[in-house]
Amino acid sequence: MFENKERTEISQLGEFGLINHLAGFFENKQPSTIMGIGDDAAVIDNGGNEYGLLTVDAMFEGVHFDLTFHPLKHLGFKAVATAVSDVCAMNGTPTQILISLGLSNRFSLEAVEELYDGIRVACDKYQVDLVGGDTTSSPRGLSLTVTVYGTVAKEKLSKRSGAKEHDLLVVTGDLGAAYMGLQMLEREKKVFMDHPNVQPDLEGHEYILGRQLRPDARLDIVQTLASLNIVPTSMIDISDGLASEIHHLGMHSACGFDVYDEKLPIDTQVMDRAMQFDLNPSVVALNGGEDYELLFTVGQEHYETLKSHPDFTIIGHTTANKGAYRLIGKSGAAFEMKAQGWQHFKG
Ligand code: ADP
Ligand code: MG
Repeated sequence: MFENKERTEISQLGEFGLINHLAGFFENKQPSTIMGIGDDAAVIDNGGNEYGLLTVDAMFEGVHFDLTFHPLKHLGFKAVATAVSDVCAMNGTPTQILISLGLSNRFSLEAVEELYDGIRVACDKYQVDLVGGDTTSSPRGLSLTVTVYGTVAKEKLSKRSGAKEHDLLVVTGDLGAAYMGLQMLEREKKVFMDHPNVQPDLEGHEYILGRQLRPDARLDIVQTLASLNIVPTSMIDISDGLASEIHHLGMHSACGFDVYDEKLPIDTQVMDRAMQFDLNPSVVALNGGEDYELLFTVGQEHYETLKSHPDFTIIGHTTANKGAYRLIGKSGAAFEMKAQGWQHFKG
């Protein structure tokens, strides 16, 4: 099947290049597979008025989390929330989850209980049932893999493709807080390593710390959109960073985007912290990642409804300029918006 003769470094392809490369060797055989690799969740047609949605997300210690500052209970919650977020990104409702757990001998029963405490809180919050999983020993550290099954009414399915020219580009909540939270935690960890007697200075930063340690999936938005009778023309969740996700929407929908810098929703705590860390708040909002907000496009007829709604910010619009992703500054100057968000295996 694979005909490479020489050794190729995975960093030459990057995460998305690797996925595309592998996907190219597979064809769907089942008529029930409506959509396979490529969106936030796979779409399955089992008959009836709803599609099934299926997605999996893995978290590895040392890659996705650092247990020196990540409480296990929050981590359990986060693992479920980030996986559930991909079902929300299809405009769907999660119903069941499976959890695969890898544990080294560093972890006691009490530690695993703490982790599952957080998992239980998330199951209650998102009304999903934990229906199975797998447990293995791990040579090093903790790994957590969460599979989510959900459903969506067929006419409400929102894919990454489908954005039309002149659609509004809308984001929920605010951006960049999870990234700034991580910067704070890593700085305090370093201070602690160098000076174990110094107490961490995290007071007053609860919002950004919470956004990093215990992010929420926007299932409430799926419900709000339903109550407003709005079906996005395309949608994605923000895991890797706004700019990166805008590229995904543009690529799948074959369009471009103009985004207005001054419209980016940024919390004052993020503004303050970014300045203190000598970072540009817009850059943090564009590339920070791990916000788990929803990014979607809708027809202009929804402008008034969305403009006045506290959960939504209209940050731009689609353009016919396929592959052109522009950030428009206050002065009107346009900059190319590169996808600099998180990617595994980056060279
Ligand atoms: P998300 O950030 O929304 O979880 P990813 O960027 O991880 O999405 O994945 C993009 C698409 O590629 C998804 O459809 C996912 O199911 C698929 N995918 C990711 N890794 C693999 C893999 N190793 N094999 C097959 N499909 C994969
Ligand atoms: Mg996603």
